[in-house]
Amino acid sequence: MGNELSPEQLNEIANEYGTPLYVYNADKIVTQYRRLTTAFQNDKVRFFYACKSLTNINILKVLKAEGCNVDCSSINEVKLALYAGFEPQNILYTSNGIAFAEIEEAQSLGVIINIDSLSNLKKFGEKFGSSYPVGVRLRPNIMAGGNLKISTGHDKSKFGIPVDQLEELVSVVKKNQIQITNLHIHTGSDIKDPEVFVKGIEVLFDIIPHFPHLKSIDLGGGFKVAYKEEDPFINVEELAEKVLHTFESNELTKDLQIWFEPGKFLVSESGYFITQVNVLKETSATTFAGVNSGFNHLIRPMFYDAYHRIQNLTNPDGTVKEYTITGNICETDTFAWSRPLPEVREGDLLVFYNAGAYGFEMSSNYNSRFKPAEVLVENGESRLIRKRDVFEDLLKNQVL
Ligand SMILES: *Cc1c(COP(=O)(O)O)cnc(C)c1O
Repeated sequence: MGNELSPEQLNEIANEYGTPLYVYNADKIVTQYRRLTTAFQNDKVRFFYACKSLTNINILKVLKAEGCNVDCSSINEVKLALYAGFEPQNILYTSNGIAFAEIEEAQSLGVIINIDSLSNLKKFGEKFGSSYPVGVRLRPNIMAGGNLKISTGHDKSKFGIPVDQLEELVSVVKKNQIQITNLHIHTGSDIKDPEVFVKGIEVLFDIIPHFPHLKSIDLGGGFKVAYKEEDPFINVEELAEKVLHTFESNELTKDLQIWFEPGKFLVSESGYFITQVNVLKETSATTFAGVNSGFNHLIRPMFYDAYHRIQNLTNPDGTVKEYTITGNICETDTFAWSRPLPEVREGDLLVFYNAGAYGFEMSSNYNSRFKPAEVLVENGESRLIRKRDVFEDLLKNQVL
């Protein structure tokens, strides 16, 4: 099996399982993971898959089988990771803005925790003292990432304890004898420049000496992948070289591990979202191709102005014309504006590439539409890994 599913394979899968449909290629996920481990080739480096990008248990198992760890954004993700078979010591919970009760629950499950506010750290210290080592998420005041919605490290961001509050942080730690074993920073998503991670390490150099129990620094995720052919993307070999060089340039980090939390990098390119054209509408300005989906299934174009490459699976050799691809919900839900595509006819199947990360995961039942089914292709075979919703699912939690 190659790393890209061919249009013929996708066509066959769509015919078998129906549309709208998410399809993931396990081989591609494994390839991406091995690219990272090969680039770093260093047993001090640990990768935690940021599973919020795609939490299907079967995907978690693919990465677990490779020896990858997992990073969670909610207590339910922690429970999904445990359910998938990850050991607590390989599960990291990087929380933000959560109730202290959820941190207590994570503690009781025995997972690694990164605490993101002084308030919760104080409560944690008062309750657990030195008995349960933890990490802290810092806000390094570095601007990075594709756009403001996905930038998390700048000086107006809600994430992490600002580095300018270091003195207070150290005093909370000392007072409660908290053992801080991990310093975490995550500056944003869609980072193409390895220098952002180098800068992160340099910010940490000044902070490391304040925490004698430190075992790791955690540089977060956010590795950019290319959505258009000419898009820049992160060069992981260059990233490895620069990060390891900076890391090894300083005695302070001699006994520390480096952790990363890639999400999109691991799963984005493995994913395909297949839709079917319901309606063609010719207007004086534009030809609309309306598909059997909307931002309720793939929100990235409307939410982040994201570009997804599209192909006409059922008429790949048609004459190229321009189409605006829209959905079927009661709001503007444009997937692509004036996109050149082989002639689109009603009934054709259109595939959106690079849809593995934040695709299904951000889908909803808006307009009381069903969420799509999910299929995994592994060892040359496709299998259903999530059923399409049925009408009962819409009523499931309603109380009459
Ligand atoms: C979202 C997130 C990630 C993963 O980001 P990607 O862009 O998908 O790599 C990693 N760590 C934390 C704390 C995050 O919030």
